[in-house]
Amino acid sequence: MAYGFDTLQIHAGARPDPATGARQVPIYQTTAYVFRDAEHAAALFNLQEVGYIYSRLTNPTVAALQERVATLEGGAGAVCCSSGHAAQIMALFPLMGPGLNVVVSTRLYGGSITQFSQTIKRFGWSARFVDFDDTDAIEAAIDKDTRAVFCESIANPGGYITDLDAISAIADKAGLPLIVDNTSATPYLCRPIEHGATLVVHSMTKFLTGNGTVTGGVVVDSGQFDWSASGKFPSLSEPEPAYHGLKFHETFGPLAFTFHGIAVGLRDLGMTLNPQAAHYTLMGIETLSLRMQRHCENAERVAGWLEKHEAVEGVTYAGLPSSPWHDRVARICPKGAGGLFTVALKGGYDACVRLVDSLELFSHVANLGDTRSLIIHSASTTHRQLTEEQQVAAGAAPNVVRISIGIEDADDIIADLEQALAKAAG
Ligand SMILES: *Cc1c(COP(=O)(O)O)cnc(C)c1O
Repeated sequence: MAYGFDTLQIHAGARPDPATGARQVPIYQTTAYVFRDAEHAAALFNLQEVGYIYSRLTNPTVAALQERVATLEGGAGAVCCSSGHAAQIMALFPLMGPGLNVVVSTRLYGGSITQFSQTIKRFGWSARFVDFDDTDAIEAAIDKDTRAVFCESIANPGGYITDLDAISAIADKAGLPLIVDNTSATPYLCRPIEHGATLVVHSMTKFLTGNGTVTGGVVVDSGQFDWSASGKFPSLSEPEPAYHGLKFHETFGPLAFTFHGIAVGLRDLGMTLNPQAAHYTLMGIETLSLRMQRHCENAERVAGWLEKHEAVEGVTYAGLPSSPWHDRVARICPKGAGGLFTVALKGGYDACVRLVDSLELFSHVANLGDTRSLIIHSASTTHRQLTEEQQVAAGAAPNVVRISIGIEDADDIIADLEQALAKAAG
């Protein structure tokens, strides 16, 4: 029987605890698991049998979360890790190598821009930044050393929706996996695998957990990519020396990427999610659809109200008919355009600073996807090291604030903005 999303967000991956019958998934705050005998231990270490060895690789609470997220995304398997940024490295790690590149969208979370433009160079990898509305430019950026294409579904800092169908067609033609960061949309609003994504990554820190209690990430594999076809992905198609020459794709088929992520990625990179964090995230996901509905309803109302305010120059929210990306909502994220957008103020940098300092219900924080309404003035915080030109290109111009709309009463959110905008103009 195929259950609906609201049922799966509560039940997928969870079954009564085999030892106690506990209905909720227990927090297995445990490091190691006793082998039945030496033969059992050998089979586990050879990957001939699936089971628990040591919690850097697998843990029962984390495994329940992996199964839940994989189910909600429509994937074959998933690997949880310690943060969203860890998930991005874990996604790229089996595909990349020195001298190889990934083609990425210019519209990304600020931390991802830094990770891709600076830090991955230390591994000998590089990223080529392209406007993902310019499909010719994406094709031109792909060369023989490209190993993946990367974008966000609803992209930071908000209001932009990527045409995943068009991008996956390009990746397919080039024989490359498409990796989609689905953090801002969540699988309730967008299911990238249905639009051709190979891998889906999340910062579970945001909407999946949903209340600002956890740092976590996950990589979901569609199980649909042929890792052996091109010879470009030897980590998955060629013999793995650390496992007696086992070939992951040949042995595990659609679960090759997931097994590699656990047996090599977590084993050697160690970016493991802890069981307590997995528990909080499981709790959060139980109410994902309810929260996302309210995030979208509130965002639509607040963005519509702000757009008409005299102090406001513009609002970028794809849920508004005025957005250039409004027509992508029905196709890419039919249940709503999410809870994030940016607002440009006529009063410039100073008005933005006065606005964030005058808000009472909103919190001025470097986070998004919380039950609480959040705001950040990027130009004076996360993006302050950039030149004004770079700030504008990143959607973080000096007169722009990013807003993550919470699930409070919309009237209260609007009232808070109203009093703070009056002070900002003052
Ligand atoms: C927050 C975020 C990340 C990074 O996640 P962390 O859990 O903070 O490491 C990556 N992508 C997007 C879209 C995010 O919002």
